[in-house]
Amino acid sequence: MTRLNLLSQKTTWEDFERSWDEREKEAEKELPLKKLKVLPDMVGITKETAKNLKWKSLLWMIRKDRGFRILRHFLKHPFKYGKQFLKSWRSGKPFKREGDYFLYGLNSLSDFESLLLDKEALFVVGFSYCHKPFECPSGRFSAGCIRDTTHNVCKQCFIGKTIHGLAKENSHPVLIPTVHHIGNELFDLLHEKPDRKIVFLITACEMTLEMFGDYGNMIGIQGIGVRLGGRICNTLQAFKLSEEGVKPGLTVVLDATKEKMLHWVRKRSEAMSG
Ligand code: SF4
Repeated sequence: MTRLNLLSQKTTWEDFERSWDEREKEAEKELPLKKLKVLPDMVGITKETAKNLKWKSLLWMIRKDRGFRILRHFLKHPFKYGKQFLKSWRSGKPFKREGDYFLYGLNSLSDFESLLLDKEALFVVGFSYCHKPFECPSGRFSAGCIRDTTHNVCKQCFIGKTIHGLAKENSHPVLIPTVHHIGNELFDLLHEKPDRKIVFLITACEMTLEMFGDYGNMIGIQGIGVRLGGRICNTLQAFKLSEEGVKPGLTVVLDATKEKMLHWVRKRSEAMSG
């Protein structure tokens, strides 16, 4: 696997983007990826699914907690986590929303930008598996991502571009096959260094951002959930199938949202190298 040393002291962000975009165009000529022909206009959550959604999420978290991994993490600080969970649960919506961005533990997008300047904080950048390309060499329903800069699929992948744009230090990219996977990952990071601040930027369907916000608030992390477009899951049935790897449709990060995400990654990377 080859990785670009993208943000070495001699490489500017502009150089990185220019070089990435050129390589992407060449790769597209050689191996065009399957794409959505039409962007479907789907509601974020159907009315039926939206009923009692918090209870549905809680049941899902408990029932699918294989090996009681989430529970064991929870029991390390049951009073603290229990209190924070109840506070979030009772607050109604566990996030503030600004367009496609769901803010957890934050009042505004500029609060998020300020957090990115904290070099000691760990920046967790997560991607829902459903917007990996169908041709992904690491497999679609998987936490893997080889992000090989010589591979024609990775060269065209927004996930690969974003990860290669991250600063090496204090960044933690993660591919998300299931809700429990990201939950465990975040708990592991938190318990590894309890004093370290965690800031996250995670892509997901609107329904997932709504369903699992209380759990992020429970562990006291701050960040942004980015709403995906395309063939999203907007019913509980579709979500359940997706969590088992059955996801025939492709979700997408819209162009304006991609730009915004890369803007944040750039800001963070430049702060880390400054
Ligand atoms: S960069 Fe994209 S295509 Fe390549 S392994 Fe990662 S997710 Fe798959």
